[in-house]
Amino acid sequence: MTDEPRISFEFFPPRDDGGRDKLVDTVAAKLETLNPEFFSVTYGAGGSTRDGTRQTVQALMQAGHEAVPHLSMGNDDPTDVQPLLDVYAESGVKQIVTLRGDQPSGFGANKFSNNAEALVKLIRQHSGDRFHLIVAAYPEVHPDAMSATSDFDFFRSKVEAGADSAITQFFYNAEAYYNFMNRCEQAGISIPVYPGIMPITNAESLFRFAGKVGADVPRWLRYEIEEIHDENDLRDFGVEVVSRLCETLMGMGAPGLHFYTLNRWGASTRICSNLGLAA
Ligand code: FAD
Repeated sequence: MTDEPRISFEFFPPRDDGGRDKLVDTVAAKLETLNPEFFSVTYGAGGSTRDGTRQTVQALMQAGHEAVPHLSMGNDDPTDVQPLLDVYAESGVKQIVTLRGDQPSGFGANKFSNNAEALVKLIRQHSGDRFHLIVAAYPEVHPDAMSATSDFDFFRSKVEAGADSAITQFFYNAEAYYNFMNRCEQAGISIPVYPGIMPITNAESLFRFAGKVGADVPRWLRYEIEEIHDENDLRDFGVEVVSRLCETLMGMGAPGLHFYTLNRWGASTRICSNLGLAA
C-alpha cells in the first residue's frame, strides 16, 4: 500500500453547455479539494458523445484540472479515431481510458468488432508512448466472458499490448479484488489496478446498473437497501458500507480508488473524509 492512495473521479459528459459549466464550476471544484490525480470523462460507445466527451475534457483542463478522456472504437475505422488522438495530444491530455465500449441500449447484443486490446495497439501505433493507457478490469468477471480464465486472458492481452494501469468495474465483494490481484501476481502482471467505487445513493438505479454490468450486489446488502425508504438514510448507510469496503481494499494493498461519481460530489467526499483522505 502506498502512503498516499491515488484518488480519481469519473464523470459523464453533460448534455449541454449549462450542464458542463455546472459540472466544472461546482462538482469538479468541490472534488478538487480532495486532491485527485484526475477527473475522467466517459465516452458513449459508437461515438455518441465524441464531442461531449472532448468538450468536457477540454473545459476541465481549461479550469486547471487534470482530465482523462475515455475512448472506445466500437465499429469505427482507425481513421475515425486518429484525429481525436491528435486533438487530445495537442490539448495536453496525458492519459486515456481505453475501452471496447458498450453498445448504446436499443442496439441489441454487443457486436463491436474492435475490442479494447485493438484500441490499445492502435494508440501505441499512432501515438507511441504519448499517453498513459488505462484499461478496464473485471474482478467479478465481465458478463460476456466464456470463463473467468478466458476473461483474465483478455485482460492480460491488453496489458501485453501496452496498457499502463487499470480501473475495475465496481463491486461490493472485496474478496473479488483480492482474487483478481492474486491472478495478476501469478501471471506476472504488476501494473496498478485501481478499484472502481460506486457510492450507494439510489436503490433503483444501483440495482438496474449492477444488473446491466454484471456487478454483484450481495444478498445481505440488497436486503438492507430494500428496507431503507428515506433517501438521506440510504445515503448515510451507503457511505458507511462503501467506506468500509474502501478501507478493506486499501488494507489489501489497493494503490488508490476511482469513484464513479454520477456527476455528484457529496457521497464520494464523505467516503474520502471517512478514509482520512480529505484535505
Ligand atoms: P474488452 O477488454 O475488449 O472486453 C471485455 C470482455 O469481453 C473481455 O474480458 C472478454 O471476456 C470479452 N471479450 C472481448 N473481446 C472478445 C472476443 N474477441 N471474443 C470473446 N470475448 C471477448 N463503457 C462505455 O461505453 N463508455 C465508457 O466511457 C466506459 N467507461 C468504463 C470505465 C471503466 C473503468 C470500466 C470498468 C468500464 C467502462 N465502460 C464504459 C464499460 C465497458 O465499455 C464495458 O464493460 C464493455 O462491455 C467492455 O469494455 P472493455 O474495454 O473492458 O472491453
